[in-house]
Amino acid sequence: MKYIGGHVSAAGGVENAPLNAKAIGAKAFALFTKNQRKWFAKPLTEENINLFKENCEKERFSSEHILPHDSYLINLGHPESEKLIKSQKAFLDELQRCEQLGLKYLNFHPGSHLGQYSEDECLKNVSESINLALSKTDYVTAVIENTAGQGNNVGYKFEHLAQIIDQVKDKSRIGVCIDTCHAYTSGYDLRDEKAFHNTFQQFEDLIGFQYLKGMHINDSKKELGTRVDRHESIGKGFIGLDAFKILMNDSRFNDIPLILETPNSEIWADEIKLLYSLKK
Ligand SMILES: [Zn+2]
Ligand SMILES: [Zn+2]
Repeated sequence: MKYIGGHVSAAGGVENAPLNAKAIGAKAFALFTKNQRKWFAKPLTEENINLFKENCEKERFSSEHILPHDSYLINLGHPESEKLIKSQKAFLDELQRCEQLGLKYLNFHPGSHLGQYSEDECLKNVSESINLALSKTDYVTAVIENTAGQGNNVGYKFEHLAQIIDQVKDKSRIGVCIDTCHAYTSGYDLRDEKAFHNTFQQFEDLIGFQYLKGMHINDSKKELGTRVDRHESIGKGFIGLDAFKILMNDSRFNDIPLILETPNSEIWADEIKLLYSLKK
């Protein structure tokens, strides 16, 4: 079974996210548990937490199909120690918010070396930041997202994700989320059966499907290998509809959240219907 949804708004309180997801016919959803442009937010109230859990239960969303995303400000591979520590604190706070809400996963971008040190050193700091955060929380799994490789971001090769996982102590609490737009613009072709299978064979060989906890389902406004992160609506970009048809009929993507981050949220309900219609 495929669990498709979108990164829905949590405006007015996290408890609104499952309702917003239900309204577009989603079976999964992503959300920010706080304002993603701020370092810290006021703690979740008892009321937020209870209503969130109630609404998830009422609308039948289980924690396996909810993929919260952390703040874009966080850089777990920051080359300067003071700023790295600030990011680590904010990341811990995000993980704790997830645990308060009974959520299993936190999706995040690995980080950036800012041109100040090597990718290897940056990836090592990312792993150490994850180790630190996992040691201070109980059960939530840290889900690393592949990046488009824009600017100085690491995580644009499956090797990078494998390298991070390799240096994480508790392998039961680390996972990955593959964003199709980021994969494509970082150089992984997905446009036809052969390209798609070649890309995910590399994924299996370097990382392994046991670590795949979610996908971001986006088409791309930019061409293969451009290393630019610009999402496009499904079937309207350079990746094209065939890739999503292959994905919808591949059981390796069953039972994980498949999240739309396409630019026009007004058509998410239609995109969800379109994706389900591709299933043979
Ligand atoms: Zn994404
Ligand atoms: Zn993106």
